[in-house]
Amino acid sequence: MTQIVNIPAWQVELSQAINKLDELLAVLELDPKQLNATWQATTSFPLRVPRGFVARMRKGDATDPLLRQVLPLADELQLTPGFSRDPLQEKQSNPLAGLIHKYHGRVLLTAVGTCSINCRYCFRRHFPYSANNPGKAGWDKVIEYIAADSSIKEVILSGGDPLVANDDYLQALCQKIAAISHVTTLRIHSRMPIVLPARITDSLVTMLKSLSLNLVVVTHCNHANEVDSTVESALAKLKTAGITLLNQAVLLKGINDKAEVLVALSERLFKQGVLPYYLHVLDKVQGTAHFEVEVNTALTLMKALQEKLPGYLEPKLVREEPGQPHKVLVK
Ligand SMILES: *Cc1c(COP(=O)(O)O)cnc(C)c1O
Ligand code: SF4
Repeated sequence: MTQIVNIPAWQVELSQAINKLDELLAVLELDPKQLNATWQATTSFPLRVPRGFVARMRKGDATDPLLRQVLPLADELQLTPGFSRDPLQEKQSNPLAGLIHKYHGRVLLTAVGTCSINCRYCFRRHFPYSANNPGKAGWDKVIEYIAADSSIKEVILSGGDPLVANDDYLQALCQKIAAISHVTTLRIHSRMPIVLPARITDSLVTMLKSLSLNLVVVTHCNHANEVDSTVESALAKLKTAGITLLNQAVLLKGINDKAEVLVALSERLFKQGVLPYYLHVLDKVQGTAHFEVEVNTALTLMKALQEKLPGYLEPKLVREEPGQPHKVLVK
């Protein structure tokens, strides 16, 4: 008898993500000759973009803000002074594989090394994920570490993207976390509600709800065009389950460095019950200099947001600085 393996639809979608530059450009009806795109940039950091996300890009538009986030450009190959491979020096706050303990009261678990999308500006594009994924036995050490420190109130699942993991893996990890009495909050940092919304299944939401923890999901959306009806349904499921929804964005040149774009982003997300949380100034990671927005420009944008939006729709402009016990407000 053959066994029928039931692969969830989101995993099929994940495995079918576009990973070839030619194909991406063909689907978008773009002429490679007009672009500064190059497959050479993908040898160290592969191209990866779910088809549902590509479907939200405008055809024939090389400046599309969603495309710019994933398009490998020749600019990435340039070495820029002041940009490094590990600007956050996270290796120093990495007491155990899979665990980063930098900030008071919170630990961050790099639950999964990969993402469903590869964002070209990623601050972790050089982070040694595979070396840092502890495997099942390693998680027990991480859980012991958290259990032994009663100052840890919140566990943050990050990555990579923790929701790339399957439900069984997540459930096993989350239940161990929930069993630690001083941990009251579980936060998940994921771009999947935005880039692969089919990941937000009823069974995932049911599992999370059953944990009896405060639940926070921090999405990562940089532009209002990223939100379509599939994203709306995913966010609605999380919202209905009573999960607090926040968004972090990265300020990116040519993508969201205009006041009207940031206003539209906050308004679009709030319509779906998501509040803006952080707007990150780009970390100085080698290969991402072409996305950098000058600090003065960023501050001018924040001023414009203040004039146009209610206070609760203004994200905090922040930067991560090595050695600081929290993210630093840029002002
Ligand atoms: C951002 C971050 C956190 C969470 O910080 P919040 O200000 O609570 O969002 C925790 N640990 C690390 C290593 C982080 O980078
Ligand atoms: S989803 Fe986040 S961690 Fe993953 S590649 Fe994009 S920016 Fe990096």
